[in-house]
Amino acid sequence: MIIPTLGCPSSCSYCWSSDEKSPVMTIETVKDVVEWLKNFRDDPVTFTFHGGEPLLAGADFYRETLSLLTEGLCHMKIAFALQTNLWKMTPELATVLAEYKIPIGSSLDGPKELNDLQRSEGYFDKMMAGYEIAKAHGLSVQFICTFTSYSVDFKEDIFDFFLDNGLTLKLHPALPSLKSDDPDKWALAPEKYGELLVYLLDKYLENMDDIVIRNINDLCRCVFTSRGTVCTYVDCMEDTFAVGPDGSIYPCYRFVGMPEWVMGNVRDHPSQEVLAESEAGKRMHQFKERVDGECKGCKHIRYCRGGCPYNAIAPTGGEIKGVDPHCVAYKRIFDEISDRFNKEMFGSFGMGMTPPQPVPPEGAKPGIMALIQKIISS
Ligand code: SF4
Ligand code: SF4
Repeated sequence: MIIPTLGCPSSCSYCWSSDEKSPVMTIETVKDVVEWLKNFRDDPVTFTFHGGEPLLAGADFYRETLSLLTEGLCHMKIAFALQTNLWKMTPELATVLAEYKIPIGSSLDGPKELNDLQRSEGYFDKMMAGYEIAKAHGLSVQFICTFTSYSVDFKEDIFDFFLDNGLTLKLHPALPSLKSDDPDKWALAPEKYGELLVYLLDKYLENMDDIVIRNINDLCRCVFTSRGTVCTYVDCMEDTFAVGPDGSIYPCYRFVGMPEWVMGNVRDHPSQEVLAESEAGKRMHQFKERVDGECKGCKHIRYCRGGCPYNAIAPTGGEIKGVDPHCVAYKRIFDEISDRFNKEMFGSFGMGMTPPQPVPPEGAKPGIMALIQKIISS
């Protein structure tokens, strides 16, 4: 993850990652990133530009940075992604990003009124203007919808908004912030998050041909393959790093700007071992050990891995006192998917009646097997 700046022109109510005074990454730091990674590892790597608002860095930054990374690391298989609110999208920027076919993730919390209430006044229109420019340049844009303690009560309106507008839905529960004085104000309680996931699973099954809900796909894949398929459900600590505007290396973008979570700096080209030995690296490892103990008896441990370390650390002021508090939600949805899966796959078979029925009888509601078939075929 590359965080060109923590600055952002919006001021979303529940944001925990922007900082007005943040500097913008220099090209010298990008060159250091290239030198650092030349001999770091040779696995495939995805560079995700995140923020703050990464487009504040401007078209010249991306023109040079994308060229430096692509040419300097041509021995590795590299891919790019970008998470932006699209306010600063310009035809010039879109042309540069389109040259590298960079998939874009943006943020949209539902219908305009609701979105602007919890993000900021005018957000929706500014984002849509950027979206039109991105689309006109052939860029693919998908949206992340943050559900807060407030917006969860409007989940039906939000789902219908995404469905009616033909938008792929990826949801994100609002998190308590390590940086805020009132960290829980917007945070979505784990129980509510669990209920929301089950609600969306049902809505998805009813409308499978007309919408994609990426989280539900990911959760089904976890259960179906018995392994985590996104960072929340794997041991992210050895495979994810974030580089902040000044070249500091952190375990993930969520920690950027917190000095106690700096693992090293790209200008020193630290090895994986050196990063693991830093105080922040050791704390991330403690989380993994905690999961091995605390989640030992859980049937979902192989594809949940205790959830996200940041979520576990955020409410405790930086200490590791437990696993991800969204455990309640994860258990709820993993139980729901695996129970439905087992029932459909083995229910009638176990009774000695008919073989497994991946396709439900005519007129019946589509079941989880139909969704899994759709995921596999796509
Ligand atoms: S800390 Fe959380 S968000 Fe960051 S990489 Fe790990 S699981 Fe993902
Ligand atoms: S569901 Fe909860 S107990 Fe089970 S592995 Fe995930 S965090 Fe641990």
